[in-house]
Amino acid sequence: MAHHAADSTHLAPLAPSTRTLLGPGPSEVPPRVLAAMGYPLLGHLDPEFVALMDETQTFLRRVMRTTNPLTLAVSGTGSAGMEAVVVNLIEPGDKMLVCVNGVFGGRMVDVAERAGAVVTAIERPYGEAFDPEEVRTALKQVQPKVVGIVHAETSTGVLQPVEEIAKLAHEHGALIALDTVTSLAGVPVEIDAWGIDAVYSGTQKCLSCPPGLAPVSFGPRAVETIQKRTHKVQSWYLDMTMIMRYWGSDRFYHHTAPISMNYALRESLALVLEEGLEVRFARHLRNHLALKAGLKALGIAYVPAEGFQLPQLNCIRIPEGIEDVPVRKRLLEQWGIEIGGGLGALKGKAWRIGLMGHSSRPANVTLVLAALETCLRDLGYACQPGAAVAAAADSYRLAAESVAVS
Ligand SMILES: *Cc1c(COP(=O)(O)O)cnc(C)c1O
Repeated sequence: MAHHAADSTHLAPLAPSTRTLLGPGPSEVPPRVLAAMGYPLLGHLDPEFVALMDETQTFLRRVMRTTNPLTLAVSGTGSAGMEAVVVNLIEPGDKMLVCVNGVFGGRMVDVAERAGAVVTAIERPYGEAFDPEEVRTALKQVQPKVVGIVHAETSTGVLQPVEEIAKLAHEHGALIALDTVTSLAGVPVEIDAWGIDAVYSGTQKCLSCPPGLAPVSFGPRAVETIQKRTHKVQSWYLDMTMIMRYWGSDRFYHHTAPISMNYALRESLALVLEEGLEVRFARHLRNHLALKAGLKALGIAYVPAEGFQLPQLNCIRIPEGIEDVPVRKRLLEQWGIEIGGGLGALKGKAWRIGLMGHSSRPANVTLVLAALETCLRDLGYACQPGAAVAAAADSYRLAAESVAVS
């Protein structure tokens, strides 16, 4: 007994390595956000915490560009946001059309089926976006209650234009539900201007907050749909009719809010708004263009076509003759850099370099290019030493000059 007690007093404190996080999430978290997680806890009904919830809602509306009253942070990661949107809009037997061009569209199908929806999936190959015309055809045939689509498909690096598709959904009497887990705060997301009825996101991608909360927002049509339900929402935990009573003026206890996560989200949203959305989008674009110039110098191409590439998630083809895992292993072990491998149809064929939120910085772009070039050359890949970093530097110089001129 004494022996056991002595042992347990000598457990080494946790000491995780410092990584450069350039994968598909989580992204790097700014010190101010990490520090917020160490503040003393408030009770989940403390007036100070309630004020923080109100402020968070205001910040979220600004970042999502919406006036929807029902805008809040669901307790759970991005997938909980997906589930919250789907289970609240869908009742057993409802028809849902899901656009699938990657892993996350596929996940939405699974979530919808579990919620009792009769799902029709339309598909595009990995790396491609949907054309509004193919969605129109499916809308006519299916007459769904809800259309689900992913704005930024993290598994393929594709940016999906959604404004036209949202219009078509409404013309056919359907609601549109949008996944903005990777897009929010990295590229423009216009919930009201595009007429999006329900949207979810996550904290760990371009918001640069640890994983753990899922911002969601429901517009007037979606709220009406929820109010008219004849079946209870399938998930007790994600039932908006109850959660809105906690986030609304009732302050009715539903579940204990993850206090520290909400501190972190409040701080990360404040950082986004202090930087300014447009400035933030421009920063993501500038770092993406520099990375892309460097990759081009290495002879590496993108999976999505020009015009559909996400600045915050660079999905690139692994060069001929190079194996996936040894390169990622070297990057992690020798350089402390995490990048993502391919998912689904792109497994072993693609890498995903995330430049999300706080990770989107020139120092990271330069580091990952130098590291990747070194690893590739060590593995026998032919490329000109130093060319990648030089090309990125040229890209930054050009960007600075064009800003100076304008
Ligand atoms: C990451 C991601 C999710 C899931 O979020 P988790 O935080 O991993 O639960 C859903 N959709 C997209 C597009 C994502 O990138």
